Amino acid sequence: MELKEKAFKSVSRKNHPGDTVVDIGGGVKIGGENFTVIAGPCSVESEAQIVEIAKSVKKSGAHALRGGAFKPRSSPYAFQGLKALGMEYLLEAKSITGLPIVTEIMNIAHIGLFADVDVIQVGARNMQNFELLKELGRLDKPILLKRGLANTVQEFLMSAEYIMSEGNGKVILCERGIRTFEGVTRNTLDLSCIPLIKEATHLPVIVDPSHATGIARLVAPMSYASVASGADGLIIEVHNDPENALCDGDQSILPSEFETVSRKIKDIAGLFGKVY
Ligand code: PEP
Ligand code: MN
Repeated sequence: MELKEKAFKSVSRKNHPGDTVVDIGGGVKIGGENFTVIAGPCSVESEAQIVEIAKSVKKSGAHALRGGAFKPRSSPYAFQGLKALGMEYLLEAKSITGLPIVTEIMNIAHIGLFADVDVIQVGARNMQNFELLKELGRLDKPILLKRGLANTVQEFLMSAEYIMSEGNGKVILCERGIRTFEGVTRNTLDLSCIPLIKEATHLPVIVDPSHATGIARLVAPMSYASVASGADGLIIEVHNDPENALCDGDQSILPSEFETVSRKIKDIAGLFGKVY
């Protein structure tokens, strides 16, 4: 099955042969020869938590800090994020460490809170929220677009097209695993889509091995495999107390484990033509 490349305009590599490099601020770029690592907890839980994790991942070489303040949860009774307060804590972590921040938007009505956010994440569940994509397309800000749980590569790239068609070319794609019949892992990491996406589009594509597997001990091997697949970077969940995390503790690695992953990526990135 081939991609229907005629459907792509702005995202197509045919119309833009060179790699797009997205500048996310703080001297950090995603795409081209860069291998960029974003790390941090699933959710911002307190000021102390996010600042401590930010400092440790920065020390290990992370380029940007992730952390959700608005969380899409399957249950309405689960922790929904600290919302505006979480955004304040993220900005505090940014001002202390200098790390650009990446955080998820669920409702365009919250856009005012995202003014100082460096990268706005569109989560898997909103990949086809076309009205949200069009609004984000009118901003001049990097957008991290995650692949939907049950979406094809064709649909994924068409969603990127929605953002670009409104004028915002700063799109970063993220493969985060898809639903299959396999229940041993939370999702199935579709690494084979990485070289296909890189052929079809000039946009950078990163991998989220945390949501793709749901299992902390699989994060390291899938991170190394992502480098070999040709990905432009990783987004990894790191928590200082995974057992008591308010969200996604099972797939979160410790700062010390992140340090090891980061060191090994530094060793192997060069083999695949990337600079970490
Ligand atoms: C997240 O990054 O914490 C998240 C909710 O991811 P996804 O949208 O890929 O499930
Ligand atoms: Mn998560």
